[in-house]
Amino acid sequence: MLREVYRVCRDTLAQGGIEAPDFEALCLLEHVTGCGRAALIAHGDRTVTESQRALLNSLTEKRLTRYPLQYLLGTWSFMGIPLSVGEGVLIPRDDTEVCVGLCLEHLKAKPHAAAVDLCAGSGAIALALERFGQAEVTAVELSEDAFYFLKKNIADNHAAVKALHGDVLTCHRSFTDGSLELIVSNPPYIRRGELALLQAEVQYEPVMALDGGESGFDFYDAIIRGWRGKLKPGGALVFELGEGQAAHVKELMQAAGFADIRTETDFGGCHRAIIGTMLSI
Ligand code: GLN
Repeated sequence: MLREVYRVCRDTLAQGGIEAPDFEALCLLEHVTGCGRAALIAHGDRTVTESQRALLNSLTEKRLTRYPLQYLLGTWSFMGIPLSVGEGVLIPRDDTEVCVGLCLEHLKAKPHAAAVDLCAGSGAIALALERFGQAEVTAVELSEDAFYFLKKNIADNHAAVKALHGDVLTCHRSFTDGSLELIVSNPPYIRRGELALLQAEVQYEPVMALDGGESGFDFYDAIIRGWRGKLKPGGALVFELGEGQAAHVKELMQAAGFADIRTETDFGGCHRAIIGTMLSI
């Protein structure tokens, strides 16, 4: 019965120390049987096939190894946009909405603005900017594995985002100076020495999407240097930030000639994103 397999899954997750066992058991149950919370309540006595039961058990066991829930499900949504995810691509975080929020404010009343999303990963930011900001977005990603998900997510969402397989450290050369209204990036920003201290789940995510070099600032520095000349006068640069990185990134942006620099906090009160505008080029 649905109700019974749900309970077993939830209790197994709880005993294994998973933080939100009710929520995760519901996600896994829906993934395997197609029945979500409403069906569980209304039709809890519905039968579950042997193969569904076996699949649910194996996913539950795998989750106990701290393998990310999102990879088990294969899809995760960001701002209501369904995205395929799996090994090799960073899982979109809700925190990234803060970064998208700053971009959308800047894009207000500027439909069809040219934008680039650097280190685009699954395409979460790029797809949100196209959908909610009517921007013409190019998404740049270097990792082969992540690029596969980026292209798939663009196609599955029928988006017009352009996917560019390239290195943000060099591919600015193929963009025209003064041509972009917005540059946004959620770059790898974890200090190399701290990678091993991240949650067990994060250890399954691609290190390439996390490793920001010894200081954590490698990509901020390189993106500012390489890309600032590509902005139109009045164009904006927006970054997602790691904890404690706001002051230094602000200094880097100031030194590079950005003005009106401000940060936005996430629900945890951490300065999660920063925006600055380019007044002259
Ligand atoms: N938000 C991710 C984490 O804390 C880091 C993502 C990144 O480096 N851009 O695990």
